[in-house]
Amino acid sequence: MNRTVVIKKCMEYKLEEIVHHLESSLEMLGGLDRFVGPKEKVLIKVNCLFPSEPEKAVITHPVFLQAVIRVLKRNTRDIIVGDSPGFGNFAASNKTGYKKVAAEEGVKLVDFAEDGEIRNENGISYKSFKVTNYVNTVDKVINLPKLKTHGLMYMTLAVKNMLGTVAGTGKPSYHMRAGRDKLLFARMLVDLYMAKPPALNILDGIIGMEGNGPGGGEPVNTGVIVMSENGFALDYVVPQIVGINPDRVYTNIVYKKNILKGIAMDVEIKGEKIADVLYTGFKPVADADESGKQMKKGFVFGFIYKVIMDLITPKQIYLKAPCTACLSCVKACPVDALVYDKKKKRIICDYDKCIRCFICQEICPEKAIVIREPFLGKLMNKKK
Ligand code: SF4
Ligand code: SF4
Repeated sequence: MNRTVVIKKCMEYKLEEIVHHLESSLEMLGGLDRFVGPKEKVLIKVNCLFPSEPEKAVITHPVFLQAVIRVLKRNTRDIIVGDSPGFGNFAASNKTGYKKVAAEEGVKLVDFAEDGEIRNENGISYKSFKVTNYVNTVDKVINLPKLKTHGLMYMTLAVKNMLGTVAGTGKPSYHMRAGRDKLLFARMLVDLYMAKPPALNILDGIIGMEGNGPGGGEPVNTGVIVMSENGFALDYVVPQIVGINPDRVYTNIVYKKNILKGIAMDVEIKGEKIADVLYTGFKPVADADESGKQMKKGFVFGFIYKVIMDLITPKQIYLKAPCTACLSCVKACPVDALVYDKKKKRIICDYDKCIRCFICQEICPEKAIVIREPFLGKLMNKKK
């Protein structure tokens, strides 16, 4: 896979300006025809973690989507746009602005169902995935990730965004299989991405999200559009644009170790230099495991293992005040660890059941779930 990454500086969601940047980026990568041929069927996979207003930076911005559609229409009008949010209806939502874009551009919005399968015989840990069958019926998938922090994977970029092709109830079950093991979950994401790599990845980093991402962080004007046919190359470059070591992103750790066999990623950057678009002061997500090294289960068992893990593993805390009792977290939890206590008017978590997948934190629309790192975890990380 070509490892060229094009960076463009773009501070605002102005349609014509974004179209211009996309076209010149495509020229640097050899032209649109390399990625989408005339009249090919295309699925655009946005990041719609849950239907949300564009200014909150939870979702790929609708103007960004519209610009991508305009550019693709030079070659094809057979375009669908889809995702499978953690909760809510993708195609029917009025919050996102996608309906207006779809109407203006004459494209269809689709909610994914778990009706297809893709395989990766060379997968590191996972060989097959239940996904939306759209990935099998279209000619090309175009991936539109959003620049955001992520409670579990440190950042969500191109590789993580393809988890959205796993529809509805499928996502929690993959989380459950990986449990608290971040590296196993990252291996699953790498295997999934490689099972059916998108033809092109175009990151919406005009307004990104820092802090308590991917659903409850703060929007920040990171001011970039980043394009590459190689999601791993893109994911290696983007953290550097916001001053983060790319080796802290779990999917990057796995890719480097298992696919590149320890050799550092070698990318060619075109367009702007990283130094010229560098965003300083970006707040990362709380994380107990900065190097990606995790304690292995092998040397401690049962009770001792659990006590130690509780002392060092980040934990999600449920704030009372912002919670509106929407119960999205309760419904999404893959192990039924959450209940809403009507008397106390708050969410109660059974931490013995909880596998720390952080799906609840991902999808809470009220920023009522925050990740806290235990004192011992912080101490251990300082020593690393
Ligand atoms: S914590 Fe968030 S997702 Fe859960 S019920 Fe409260 S507002 Fe809803
Ligand atoms: S309580 Fe939250 S972090 Fe724990 S298993 Fe359920 S969804 Fe995952």
